[in-house]
Amino acid sequence: MDIARSIADLRRHVALWRKAGERVGLVPTMGALHQGHLALVRAARSECDRVVASIFVNPKQFAPSEDLASYPRRETADLDVLRAAGVDLVFVPATAEIYPPDFSTVVQVSGLTTGLCGAHRAGHFDGVATVVTKLLIQSLPDAAYFGEKDYQQLMVVRRLARDLDIPVRIAGVPTIREPDGLALSSRNAYLSQEERRIAPGLARVLRSVAAAIAREPAAVAGEIARSVAELKNAGFAVEYLEVRDAETLTPVVTEVTAPARVFAAVHLGRTRLIDNMPIG
Ligand code: AMP
Repeated sequence: MDIARSIADLRRHVALWRKAGERVGLVPTMGALHQGHLALVRAARSECDRVVASIFVNPKQFAPSEDLASYPRRETADLDVLRAAGVDLVFVPATAEIYPPDFSTVVQVSGLTTGLCGAHRAGHFDGVATVVTKLLIQSLPDAAYFGEKDYQQLMVVRRLARDLDIPVRIAGVPTIREPDGLALSSRNAYLSQEERRIAPGLARVLRSVAAAIAREPAAVAGEIARSVAELKNAGFAVEYLEVRDAETLTPVVTEVTAPARVFAAVHLGRTRLIDNMPIG
């Protein structure tokens, strides 16, 4: 497995593969890798000849009040995990490689980013869209892999690739969960023992809302009220719990008539957790 720390080195590797007619898959991550990330690597491995993973904790997608400084960083362990998973190249740029001092461009996707996490994390999706656009242009992969765990992000990335005519297929990979249902996340490392005990309640509630609305599509408002109360009782602070159209992410407030998903963000102590599930 090769390691590239510069954009020039990344491009050199990928150019050789493309010249040889090999299909290249990109798996962007912020490191602190877990089985969720490895599911993306496996999907890329199965569909592409070469897999590039990137590890970059992108400062632009963290608001000043968020956890940029404490975000888990374990480069050596991550590289071991990626080597064992059969990754061909890891791109690990320093912050200045991605954002030189006079960096002045923002990629902003409107509409899709106004609600859900976009309403609660100022500037977050501008940071995501900017860095993903750069990673796609830097590596020019045939396909790039993103988790449904961050479903709004997946939709934003699909839209920017389409709008900016970046010739890449954006692939979505289903969420990997702990046996008790908790969606794997690098931020789960922040949870205390007591919080870890409570945390799977989020997936349980989402699963029950999704099943109830699948049975009774006009029960959206009642189900949301019921499940917000249930989450609060379980010890979560609820940021949002909403049903949205699975494609456009427009709110569904009364009745589900097209493919939809239920989305939630909650806080447990200092940890923010997100999850989402399809309805039906
Ligand atoms: P992150 O390192 O948290 O920025 O995540 C990198 C990629 O892994 C994103 O596309 C995430 O959606 C994806 N990912 C994170 N957690 C999971 C999970 N539990 N299951 C599937 N994909 C995930």
